[in-house]
Amino acid sequence: MSPTDYIGRYAPSPTGPLHFGSLVAAVASFLDARAHQGRWLIRMEDLDKPREMPGAADDILRILEAYGFEWDGEIIYQSQRHEAYQATLEQLIAADKVYRCNCSRREVADIAHAGIEGPVYPGLCRNGLSRERDTIAWRLKTDAAHLIFHDRIQGDFDHCMQRDIGDFVLKRADGQFAYQLAVVVDDAEQNISHVVRGADLLNSTSRQILLQYCLQLPSPVYAHIPLATNAAGDKLSKQTRAEALSIENAADSLTQALAFLGLNPPDDLAEFPLAEIWLWAAEHWQLEKVPARLQSNG
Ligand code: GLU
Repeated sequence: MSPTDYIGRYAPSPTGPLHFGSLVAAVASFLDARAHQGRWLIRMEDLDKPREMPGAADDILRILEAYGFEWDGEIIYQSQRHEAYQATLEQLIAADKVYRCNCSRREVADIAHAGIEGPVYPGLCRNGLSRERDTIAWRLKTDAAHLIFHDRIQGDFDHCMQRDIGDFVLKRADGQFAYQLAVVVDDAEQNISHVVRGADLLNSTSRQILLQYCLQLPSPVYAHIPLATNAAGDKLSKQTRAEALSIENAADSLTQALAFLGLNPPDDLAEFPLAEIWLWAAEHWQLEKVPARLQSNG
């Protein structure tokens, strides 16, 4: 691949303001794209309207801009892409890769065994709906084959899709498309070659690669950066009340993000203008320096 074939992206969910954990993911994906002379796109993952915070999407873009991020091309909004997701679902229906399911979450939880990320759906509806209920979800069929993938930071993974994940939902009973489907459709639409994101999505990667395989789409290269946690060891998120990034502290936060990513910035870097900090960062970026393990952000 020539360097300019690199297309990276940052895909925030506007469920709340950006915090240090989101900044770290944005910085890593941005610097990696620039180090490859690649493009860096932004996709607003505003699929889950009930969880969205009004105004958060605009605030996120305002903060990114104030921090000195520069993105390429138009921003894609997932809320405007239902037709593309539906068309992809129909492609999977035609290929007999999916089935309808009307089990409730409760029914699944009662009988499912634990997988690597929650209960593994035991396939009750594989041969036809098993209950009287109008609300219908769509699930992708998995089998016992192993999906093996390499992560640039976290190493090699081997998931037995049926045992570790199970038949997973692509469209929910409430009509909403699942993140796993949307992200695969959009990464393909935007020709994403490299995904750099938080390690909370590491276990989603095999589902996304399986979907790409079913849809005969190319798979991007993946890198998952460690999650920033608070002093109690919880992932920084809206739920754990992570502090929102402020424009006044941009230089400090940015420098801390560089330190978190293993770049070892000089002590006085935060005293320089943002443009200088970015220059230093671009010069020193090396994905190999990013630690794989979790770190505490104090
Ligand atoms: N929207 C997801 C998040 O904010 C990121 C999805 C992705 O990078 O694949 O956590």
